[in-house]
Amino acid sequence: MVDLKSQYQKIKSEINNSISEVIESAAFINGSKVKEFQRNLESYLKVKHVIPCGNGTDALQAALMALNLKSGDEVITADFTFIATVEVVALLGLKLKFVDVNPETFNLDVSQIEKAITPDTKAIVPVHLFGQAADMDVIMKIAEKYNLYVIEDTAQAIGADYTLNNRETKKLGTIGTVGCTSFFPSKNLGAFGDGGALYTNDDKLAEKIRQITNHGSKVKYFHDEVGVNSRLDSIQAAILNVKLKYLDNYISARQKAAEYYDKAFKPHPNIIIPVRDEKSTHVFHQYTIKVQEIDRDGLKEFLNKNKIPAMIYYPYPLHLQKAYKYLGYKENDFPVSEELSKVVLSLPMHTELTEEQLQFITEKVLEYADR
Ligand SMILES: *Cc1c(COP(=O)(O)O)cnc(C)c1O
Repeated sequence: MVDLKSQYQKIKSEINNSISEVIESAAFINGSKVKEFQRNLESYLKVKHVIPCGNGTDALQAALMALNLKSGDEVITADFTFIATVEVVALLGLKLKFVDVNPETFNLDVSQIEKAITPDTKAIVPVHLFGQAADMDVIMKIAEKYNLYVIEDTAQAIGADYTLNNRETKKLGTIGTVGCTSFFPSKNLGAFGDGGALYTNDDKLAEKIRQITNHGSKVKYFHDEVGVNSRLDSIQAAILNVKLKYLDNYISARQKAAEYYDKAFKPHPNIIIPVRDEKSTHVFHQYTIKVQEIDRDGLKEFLNKNKIPAMIYYPYPLHLQKAYKYLGYKENDFPVSEELSKVVLSLPMHTELTEEQLQFITEKVLEYADR
């Protein structure tokens, strides 16, 4: 699905030098590279505070903790997302409220959010799935009306722009109360291991998040609250610092590959290409098609047999997962999410796709679709 080896080859000496600097300095934890990366990401995102942390899941957990969410508080999120988004909510003893998604954008169906709100609701967690924004204008409006926090899960959408109704363009993750992202190697800005970050324009919240990710401590060995240990290590920061410079190029490369796929599949009546939201750029963490009257699992198998990776994100809706049975949801509660899990297929998407590869992939998809 990704080609991290080829990507590395192109910037190998720059990356190796940056890693060497960390090793020579021996500042492995909270070294100057972490600070440098934090500042560079702040200016890239045009946000006041970036707080690096250990991974994207920790970022979501730290956000919920920093906002003082307590047992019994309710958190609304999409039923169609990666498990990390909901896991931390459950882990903190908060109550999960799923909402179905929009069949076109795969993101929160905003027309169903208000129905899920109760007096105990404290936050909405929109996930900008596959690299495109959830409907932030509407989500922010609902959040204001009911006085809710908005925690943006931007793990798949770093670098994407959103143009608000007031014509202001902002990076995803900087619109809500706090944004959370992941630097997992296959994400659009990937480290060589785990990494994550939170972003916010709120000074007080930023301070609280820093404290929480540092054992609840501002002054060493004095702990004002229960925290966690979640840091971005200096070697990962050194790598990310180099790769951040190329992020916009990486995004363009993904968008170009997506255009190639679009052109090939658009004429086909049974392949539905990803819909573009006019308010958001799409950074294509995944290129995900929907099929109709085509055996989706057969297509996946056929591609895999031809050495083309293809993945189902996500094969089973969250409200039906064994671990979340206790919430009491049942089949047909979220029909769109259930249907999507049966018809979506993600094709190889990364920064190094050649025209030759794209031609081969699209030919094989069409071959199966037409038989
Ligand atoms: C990857 C991902 C995460 C978690 O990130 P990790 O760094 O792997 O913990 C959270 N949410 C979404 C939507 C993701 O894709």
